[in-house]
Amino acid sequence: MQQPICHHISNLSQEIAKAVTQCQRPTGSVKLLAVSKTRPLDEIRIAASCGHTCFGENYAQELAQKSQALDVAGLEWHFIGPLQSNKTRLVAEHAHWMHSIDRLKIAQRLSHQRPSHLPPLQICLQVNIDNEPSKSGLSLEEIAPLANAVHDLPNITLRGLMCLPLRASNIEQQRASFTKLRQAYNELQEKGYSLDTLSMGMSNDFVTAIEEGSTMVRIGTAIFGSRA
Ligand SMILES: *Cc1c(COP(=O)(O)O)cnc(C)c1O
Repeated sequence: MQQPICHHISNLSQEIAKAVTQCQRPTGSVKLLAVSKTRPLDEIRIAASCGHTCFGENYAQELAQKSQALDVAGLEWHFIGPLQSNKTRLVAEHAHWMHSIDRLKIAQRLSHQRPSHLPPLQICLQVNIDNEPSKSGLSLEEIAPLANAVHDLPNITLRGLMCLPLRASNIEQQRASFTKLRQAYNELQEKGYSLDTLSMGMSNDFVTAIEEGSTMVRIGTAIFGSRA
């Protein structure tokens, strides 16, 4: 019998492909990031055994431990949580991607601490798209100045934008947040940045996010079940 985790990944991949086709975007233009935060190594191993390679973590220590403990080749680790400056080294040394940059200081430390034998850390700027006081992330006005500043750092590569919108009560409200992020992304591209990543959409809203241009959906619950 197929493992439920593999079953969920394959179902989701089909749903993603269907949404991509329905909005007439190119096949394969949306990547599935399996958010494995708080889940045990065994579950990640199962996901890897059915061919899944990209995993997202929220805690620097947990990402470092898991990436070192799993002896599976070719996995790609994405850091997606808030990061304190005293934890940047863990991310610089163990992650391939970092989605939640919202301060120059963090970007500078990551670039400085990135080991020279590794390729540049791939980053997204996190935008607080609904201006929630409790959430980290940039305001729309802060995006361009930070993009400009991180552009000069040698060991990180700016790939795009990320958001974690308000959990809206209706789908059109959710859509409006995604649309705002896509517009900010397009504006940055018009300024000359070559970007390819719009990191938005989670278990409950990934279809809407894809319709609004997401290129990477970050999904935890729909793969691994609800977290404790
Ligand atoms: C936990 C988390 C997710 C996954 O959320 P689900 O609702 O479980 O799919 C995605 N992105 C971020 C930044 C998260 O912290």
